[in-house]
Amino acid sequence: MTRKAGRLAVLFGGVLALWLAVALVAWSGTRDARRAPLAVPADTVVLLTLDGVRMRELLLGADPGLSGAGGDPRGTLMPFLMGALVPEGVFLGDPARGSRFGLGHPVGVSMPNYQALFAGRVTACLRNECPPVRGGTLITSVVDRFGAGALGVFTSYGALCPALRVPPEAQPRCSAGLRRGYAGAPRQTAPEWGARDAAIIDAALQRLRAAPPRFLYIALEETDPAAHVGNYPAYLRLLREYDGYIRALATELARQAATGRRVTLLITADHARGSGDGWRQHRWNVPGTDDLWLAAAGHGIAPRGRLAEGPARSSRDVRATVEYLLGLGVRPALPEILNGA
Ligand SMILES: [Zn+2]
Repeated sequence: MTRKAGRLAVLFGGVLALWLAVALVAWSGTRDARRAPLAVPADTVVLLTLDGVRMRELLLGADPGLSGAGGDPRGTLMPFLMGALVPEGVFLGDPARGSRFGLGHPVGVSMPNYQALFAGRVTACLRNECPPVRGGTLITSVVDRFGAGALGVFTSYGALCPALRVPPEAQPRCSAGLRRGYAGAPRQTAPEWGARDAAIIDAALQRLRAAPPRFLYIALEETDPAAHVGNYPAYLRLLREYDGYIRALATELARQAATGRRVTLLITADHARGSGDGWRQHRWNVPGTDDLWLAAAGHGIAPRGRLAEGPARSSRDVRATVEYLLGLGVRPALPEILNGA
């Protein structure tokens, strides 16, 4: 090798080393940024689940093929959620846009999916009658860091609190024995549908106004039994009522945000349900059960509207996302819905 060639080789080697160093620093910087906690955590995260609500009525309105659809106009039955909240936040799971948000637990039954939502993993639960979830969950993360007083859980699905191991002091409205066993369930008449959910949302709003917890979980659940007994008009009416509840929650959160509080709202379902005549049911072998959705808005959430494409996600990603928003975790499981993650 000539001296000139040697100098060139040294120069080339130096340039290569410099490039590698820059690339490594950039790569590790990116990785560190993705692994860092949210700079300013949310003061309150509200998670709302709507039991067995499929996206058909959210995106397209009532299914004219189902008896009882009536003369409902085309278009969403939840105009506030889809027309006001989502444009300021995000919606995951619109199949027309190639966005996928699936079941947390493949069995497609309620309790296994509530456990997967809170545990962030598939649990051993396979039916609605399950022992309390084992290991860490979103509930234990919040309670361990902030104390049970920082947690509020409101639902009329009484089995949910023991199955999720909600501490008694955090469950002022966790009524027992109000659902399950549809075959023997009381046949509610139309005017009665919605009374339990209305009481739950009232209690949750009172708590949110009086002493907002760090993490507030609200589970509305009457849509599922209404569907199981095939009462489509009641199911549609409940969706309209839920839209009003979401408006009330968002209005209160906006009022708090105006005072400087950092607040986030996430909305999803435990499972979806079948289509056509299969709409009454949900299960691993009922097509459509896996077509879940998630809407979110507020502190930490990017205003990206209905997301297109992107990686397939599931409700198992919600736990890490809420923990990230609360400053409890460093893994933003759904970076596409987050600001700067
Ligand atoms: Zn369910």
